[in-house]
Amino acid sequence: MKTVPKFWFEPYPWIDGDWHRDGVTTEVLNPATAEPLAAVAVVDAAVVGRAIDGAVAAQRDWARTPAAQRGRVVGEIGRLLLRQKDEFARLLTAEQGKPYAHAVAEIDYAASFFSWFGEEARRVHGRIVPHPEPDREFLIRYKPCGVAGLITPWNFPLAQGAKKIAACLAAGCAAVWKPAEATPLVALGLAPLAAEAGLPAGLLQIVPGSGPLVGGVFAEHPQVPVISLTGSTATGSTLMAAAAPGIKRLSLELGGNAPFIVLPGADLDFVAEQLVRLKLFVSGQVCVTANRVFVDEAGHDALAERLVERFAAAKVGNGLDESVEIGPLIDGRACEKVGSLVDEAIADGARALCQNRGYENDESLRAGSFFPPTVLVDVRDEMRIAREEVFGPVLGLLSYRGVGEAVRRANETPQGLAGYVYGRDLGECRAVAESLQVGIVGINEWRPLKAEIPFGGVKQSGIGVEGGEEGIREFLDTQVISLPVPPLEP
Ligand code: NAP
Repeated sequence: MKTVPKFWFEPYPWIDGDWHRDGVTTEVLNPATAEPLAAVAVVDAAVVGRAIDGAVAAQRDWARTPAAQRGRVVGEIGRLLLRQKDEFARLLTAEQGKPYAHAVAEIDYAASFFSWFGEEARRVHGRIVPHPEPDREFLIRYKPCGVAGLITPWNFPLAQGAKKIAACLAAGCAAVWKPAEATPLVALGLAPLAAEAGLPAGLLQIVPGSGPLVGGVFAEHPQVPVISLTGSTATGSTLMAAAAPGIKRLSLELGGNAPFIVLPGADLDFVAEQLVRLKLFVSGQVCVTANRVFVDEAGHDALAERLVERFAAAKVGNGLDESVEIGPLIDGRACEKVGSLVDEAIADGARALCQNRGYENDESLRAGSFFPPTVLVDVRDEMRIAREEVFGPVLGLLSYRGVGEAVRRANETPQGLAGYVYGRDLGECRAVAESLQVGIVGINEWRPLKAEIPFGGVKQSGIGVEGGEEGIREFLDTQVISLPVPPLEP
C-alpha cells in the first residue's frame, strides 16, 4: 500500500512567489476513506484582485523575455514534475481517488505539455504579407494577450492545469489559476516547482476558491482579457454570460457524450479489452469516456458477455493499493447522480447485467464514495443515461441495425467532444470517423489524446483547443501593422 506523501508546499494561495498565509479554510478529503488530507485556505474577491494585479506587473517583463528563455523555463517545470513523479502521483491518488497507475499516467501527461509548449514558445512567429498598394507591406505579428484566468475541474487536477499554464506561459502571458475546490493540493504542489524552474514571481498565481466567485472576478476584471475553463457545459454557459459584458475571449473545454461505435465483424475480444480500459479509466469520470456504446445486433450479446466478465472481475478500492483498478467517485453527490441515472434507466426497461459491489465487504472503504461498475443493456436513445454525461463506471449498450443508423444516432446529441470507432475494415472506420460531429476520434484506440495534437470540442462541448501548435494561439493576440517600404537604393 502506498502512503500519502509529506507535503512539499503549504496549503495557502500562491501569490507573487509566496504563500498567502491568510483566509478561511476548507477541508480536502480523501474520497476513498473520507479522511481529511488538509485544510486549504480559499481566496475572496480581494485576494483574487491582488493576484491579478501581481500578474499584470510580472507579465510586462515576461512578454519581453526572449521566447527561447521562456521556453526553457516552461520545459524545466515539466522536468521537475517528472523528478517528483511518485510524490505527485501519491498525492493525486489520495486527493482525487484515481488508482496510483492512473495518477502516474496523469503526471506524465501533464509533464508532456510543459515539454511540448516549452518547445513551441520559439515557434510563435508572424509573417509579411504583400500590400495591394505600391511601396507598402503588412507585418503580421502575434503578441501575448496579457493575463489569463484559468479554471480547471477535479478529474485531472494537474493535467488540465498543465495544458493551460504551459501554453499561457510559453505565449508570454501570466496565469491566474483556480483549481477545483475538491482538488487544490496537487495544484499548489506545482508552485515550488515553478519557482525552482526559474519562473519569475507573479507569472503563476494559484488561487483555490469557489468557481462562481473567482470566475466572476475574472469576468469583470478589465485586465483579464482571456478566460480558459475546463468544466461542464452548464458552467461554460454561465461563464460565457458573465463574461459577455466585458467581451472576454473564452476558451472552453466542456462536457462530452462520446459515442463508441462497434462495427459489424469487429474483433470483440479486442473491443472489450479497450472499452473496459476506457470506461474504467478514472472510474469513468472523464470527459472523453465512452458514454453510448453502439453495437450491431449480431455482436451485441457476445460483447455484453465479455464486458460483464471484465467488470465483475475488476478490483474496486483505495487507489493507493496498487492492485486496485477502480477508485471511488469524487464524492457522495457524484454517486447519487450516477445512481439516479442508472435507477431511472432500469425503471425504464434497461437491464443491469453486472453491478460489482465487491468493495462493500471491506470495512476500510465504508466511508468512501464508491459506485459499483455496472453494465447495462437495452439502453435506448431517449433515456437520460444516453442523453447525459455519465461520470461513473457505467457502460450502457445500445444496439443498431445498420452503420448509417449508428452514425445518425451517434450525432443526435448537443455534445461533440470525442468518439470511437472499432472495426476491421479501416476504410469503413475512417468513413464513419469522418461522419462523426466530434473534435477527436480514436479508431481502434481508446486514448488518442497527446500534447502534440489540438484537442477541443464542437457543438456544446466547447470553443477553442488545447495542445498541438494551435493551443498556444488561445493566448495570443493578432496584430497587423501596415507599413511603408523604404525605397531600396540600387
Ligand atoms: P464544473 O462543475 O463545471 O467545475 C469545473 C470548474 O469550474 C471548477 O473549478 C469549478 O469550481 C468552476 N466553476 C463552477 N462554477 C463556475 C462559475 N459559475 N464560473 C466559473 N467557474 C465555475 O465541472 P466538474 O464537475 O468539476 O468537472 C466535470 C466536467 O468537466 C464534466 O462535464 C467534464 O466532461 C468536463 N471536462 C471537460 C474536459 C474537456 O477537455 N473538454 C476535460 C475534463 C472535464 P468549483 O470547484 O468551485 O466547483
